[in-house]
Amino acid sequence: MSKVKHFLDTSILRPIHSSSSEYKKYLNNNLGKDRYISHYIQKEFVNGLIIPMMSFYSLLRMKHITSVADALSVWNNKFNSRELKSINVLVVNLLSSHYIDLNDLRKKDSASKLIADYIRRLLSLLELRFKFIGVDNNLCVKTKLVLDYDLDKLDNIFSQYLKDFKKSDDSKICNINTFFKTHSSQIDKIQKSTLNIDKTDRSGLEKIQKNIKSINNNMSCVKCAKLGDMIISILTPSNMRLEHTDNSFDYLMELLEKTHYKHPSELAIQKKAETVSK
Ligand SMILES: [Zn+2]
Repeated sequence: MSKVKHFLDTSILRPIHSSSSEYKKYLNNNLGKDRYISHYIQKEFVNGLIIPMMSFYSLLRMKHITSVADALSVWNNKFNSRELKSINVLVVNLLSSHYIDLNDLRKKDSASKLIADYIRRLLSLLELRFKFIGVDNNLCVKTKLVLDYDLDKLDNIFSQYLKDFKKSDDSKICNINTFFKTHSSQIDKIQKSTLNIDKTDRSGLEKIQKNIKSINNNMSCVKCAKLGDMIISILTPSNMRLEHTDNSFDYLMELLEKTHYKHPSELAIQKKAETVSK
């Protein structure tokens, strides 16, 4: 049997670093050792986890914020989305594993340092634990941002990185149009697809088809992110299996005739564990 090369989508890369221990165990048992990612997937990971962590760090560093508990309550009131709320859990877990009292006003500095170090470790772990499928110079401008981690200037470096990362959201400098041109035949196939799929998948595919129509020479990163799953399906090397939890890849990968595997969600694995332990 030939050894499977696993190409990880963001929906798998994120829980490898931040999910319940039960789900981490499931992923580790099912993903083998040969794990690949691309700089585009790294970008999505940074967007979903590193950027919120950095924003939380910046909030905590503000003069009027007196303690971690204070920052957590401001953060909670500011954001409603599940993804941003999960940063709360991450921060609390991280700091309590270092016995930091969240209400202790004297612990603000050491808490900031721990969060900054967590960000540094996450980024370097990506480079260490995964193989990159090579550099594609035509990809989104965000894939080229580098964080120069300098302990003495962290506040400035993080705030500059946050600015740089968001700069391309509204201005039309994403630069992924060359990638779209290079892969126009595959995009065409997706655009013209009349796959016989169920209603939910059909509306997902139609959304992608609508977004394909809006591709032009001057794209913003908000637009490029909307086509993220399509970009990842095109990026998947033909000798690898895409590992994911998203429905969209069911039809995208079928259309492109590539191999993929949809894993159960974290919730499904947790439910299974609960039934077993009853
Ligand atoms: Zn972009």
